[in-house]
Amino acid sequence: MKNLFGLTLDELAAELDPLPKFRAKQIAAHIYKHGVKTFDDMNDLPKTLRAELSTRFEIKAAELVTQLDSRDGLTTKFLLAFSDGAAVEVVLMRHDYGNGICISSQVGCQMGCKFCASTLKGLERNLTAAEMLAEIFFAAEIFSGEGQKLDSVVVMGTGEPLMNFDALIKMLRLLHEDYCLGMSYRKITISTCGIVPAIKKLRDEKIPVTLSISLHAPDDKLRSALMPINSAFGLKSLLAAGDDYAQVTGRRVTYEYILLGGVNDTEEHARRLAKILSGQLANVNLIPYNPVRERDFNPPTNHAVKKFFHFLNTHGIGATVRKEMGADVNAACGQLKASKNIF
Ligand code: SAH
Repeated sequence: MKNLFGLTLDELAAELDPLPKFRAKQIAAHIYKHGVKTFDDMNDLPKTLRAELSTRFEIKAAELVTQLDSRDGLTTKFLLAFSDGAAVEVVLMRHDYGNGICISSQVGCQMGCKFCASTLKGLERNLTAAEMLAEIFFAAEIFSGEGQKLDSVVVMGTGEPLMNFDALIKMLRLLHEDYCLGMSYRKITISTCGIVPAIKKLRDEKIPVTLSISLHAPDDKLRSALMPINSAFGLKSLLAAGDDYAQVTGRRVTYEYILLGGVNDTEEHARRLAKILSGQLANVNLIPYNPVRERDFNPPTNHAVKKFFHFLNTHGIGATVRKEMGADVNAACGQLKASKNIF
């Protein structure tokens, strides 16, 4: 049966042909505005049409496998499964400045970053636009059940979103449509390990999403040791692509920097980082490393985090430290899934 969830209005109209376009609009409103899951509940459609549609189509988003709530109640992590059984993680975050969700863009990851749990088993497959949208709808429904709304989306879970470019763009455009969630592009952040040609392609899409670049090291030698992608696209070209994205879109780029104890967290690293970012429309988000059982790194000391943060902020680079949310629910990417596979 053909799944209608995740189709654009034009695609819906094409599927429903020869029904008039207003039927596609009614059905889109049911699916995206009212979260209706069966044709039976589409009470403004004639009964015979509802019956006929339910023999040909289904409305299927994602299914819950596991839920973990953090002790402070601010973070909830979900493992969601799709029809082929593939499972991905999403994280709901209740910030004092709004409600957010972190979604996955792929099942597994091929990028091979040395500190990350998501890439341990390689790439299983790309997610479709519909599946990424299903992650977002899952969160939107939870928030609305709490009398709240979903304010922002970060594509920062498992996978490299820019390696799944077409599905990502399709999902973003659909998410932005008034007949869908009508989400402002400014409320969406895409995080990449640095696929330079795809950053340029994203710029040319003319959708002003926030770009977040996972930097993690201030020189090519260390970055290539931590992130294999750096051997293909080195720091110079990556920083130029980030700068260009900021100039063209007017959106400040965020550079993520994981602090790995004793590896990239000294004052000398902070100095070099401030140097390579000076003059950029950018800020830095410092992420204390979240230990992964299969990986051989240590978190930084609190003292090292404070010193690094202070150095950047007193040397012209706006920096924040990611609030540790949900460490008790394995919130670092890939960890919930990895732990499920172990037990
Ligand atoms: N592929 C994209 C998005 C997924 S990773 C990217 O690389 O940006 C999202 C962020 O989590 C990245 O900055 C990544 O480096 C970071 N991350 C991965 N493993 C982590 C860990 N164990 N502790 C803290 N941050 C981690």
